[in-house]
Amino acid sequence: MSQTVVVGGGPAGLAAAYRLAQHPEQSVLLLERALGLGGLAAGFRHGDYTLDFGPHRLHAAVDPLILEELRRLLGDELLWRPRRGLIRLGDRFLPYPIGPASMLHLGPSRLLGIGAGLLVRQVTPTSGTPVSYEAALKARVGQPLYRLFYGPYAEKVWGLPGSLIAADQAERRVNQRGLADFVRLALGRNAAGQYLYPRGGFGRIPAVYAQALASMPGANVECSADVEKIEWGPDGLRTIHYSKGDRRVQARADQLIWTASIPELMRRLDPAPPRDIQEAASHLRYRAVVLCYVVLAIPCVGQADTYYFPESRFPFNRVTEQKNFSVATVPSDRTVLCLDLVCDAADDLFALSDEQLGNLVIPLLEEVGLARASQVVEVFSRRFAQAYPVYDLDYRAALSQTLGWLADLQNLWLIGRHGLFIHDNVHHSLLMGHRAAETLAAGERGFWPAALAQFATFRVAD
Ligand SMILES: Cc1cc2nc3c(=O)[nH]c(=O)nc-3n(C[C@H](O)[C@H](O)[C@H](O)COP(=O)(O)OP(=O)(O)OC[C@H]3O[C@@H](n4cnc5c(N)ncnc54)[C@H](O)[C@@H]3O)c2cc1C
Repeated sequence: MSQTVVVGGGPAGLAAAYRLAQHPEQSVLLLERALGLGGLAAGFRHGDYTLDFGPHRLHAAVDPLILEELRRLLGDELLWRPRRGLIRLGDRFLPYPIGPASMLHLGPSRLLGIGAGLLVRQVTPTSGTPVSYEAALKARVGQPLYRLFYGPYAEKVWGLPGSLIAADQAERRVNQRGLADFVRLALGRNAAGQYLYPRGGFGRIPAVYAQALASMPGANVECSADVEKIEWGPDGLRTIHYSKGDRRVQARADQLIWTASIPELMRRLDPAPPRDIQEAASHLRYRAVVLCYVVLAIPCVGQADTYYFPESRFPFNRVTEQKNFSVATVPSDRTVLCLDLVCDAADDLFALSDEQLGNLVIPLLEEVGLARASQVVEVFSRRFAQAYPVYDLDYRAALSQTLGWLADLQNLWLIGRHGLFIHDNVHHSLLMGHRAAETLAAGERGFWPAALAQFATFRVAD
């Protein structure tokens, strides 16, 4: 029997293991470093609250194959929800996504400026290929809209000005294509107007994969398992060494599906890859996120599920009200806000205590009218050092060099947000897991480049 080791139990690894274990000739060993499964998409219980890691929704663009699988696993738990977003611009909250309705509130001159910016881009051909996110987006939506939202928000996520962010992120991350999309928003024809969400919290998605795997004879799942060394040779990868508590374990890997980060993979390969390849891989870095949860002794704050804060004076990018994703997740007399603060893992912000976080954010929540200090019952946090891959101007060359070298390892399958250093959504990671498992089980490695080419077309929704 062929043994596949899957490293990482987030959506990508779970979906891959689940599909593979359906093939009777395959045995699967899934290794997850954390205590539980689900990765960034997991949920957790805190007291009476069922919470997500920041705002997590299943976007309507989900591939039909994945949606069908999720409906089978979740049954009637998966609900369509209306999207209710607001964005803080100046001293007020406006409808999000940004369209003419939001602009109207900013006054006629702002609306005219933005409309003119969009129109000019529509009729003026752009010369040459844009080199940065800023140039690519300004060419599409014009300077006023870029300055108002897209530039400041990208800078908060990636910690770089738009002129130093790779141009391809404008294509992959921003669904606003220009004047036509702006008008579509005005007519209420916004495809992103609805999303899917499990009644019991987003974490139900990874949880149902984990439950299914637990009863599959070909699957073995190990949590708190840290991969330490991966032996390889001319015939590919051979043996995985991992630790579980004080146990040291070796596992044969006929195939390896890797969903953890590329720099981590490079550090574990034995023998070590050539020095220039290691250097290229070390260029692939991440932004971290601190998720600060604020429990309020009131039934609810408002109707919005997410409030967006592009301005740099707010240390958080978004505030979400968990209950407005599903009322079943928080008791009726309380509500929980989650603020995502994006930073570098080496920043002081990443190391702030919960008390310090509360002191930082509660006055700002008061200022914008989302909470009063007297309503706050508790502040606590969760942190991820690797949340957002950083796409600076050099990332593509570093990534191509690294992936080019790794492509010679024919029994290695790189998938997921980290395995491919791709800014993705959950449904993309599920699809990557599915495709890797099916291609591997069919013994059709030759089709893998076509799958990778499809993954490169994914567009991220917010
Ligand atoms: C704040 C935030 C909000 C988001 N909101 C949305 C949203 O609304 N909708 C949406 O679709 N997507 C959203 N995303 C993106 C979504 O979370 C990811 O697309 C998805 O979780 C990626 O799945 P993955 O399996 O590729 O990676 P991950 O979920 O990161 O899973 C990787 C797993 O690998 C494990 N691992 C790492 N190293 C090792 C090791 N050495 N050994 C063993 N295991 C290891 C990790 O512990 C983790 O469990 C959001 C992301 C963030 C950060």
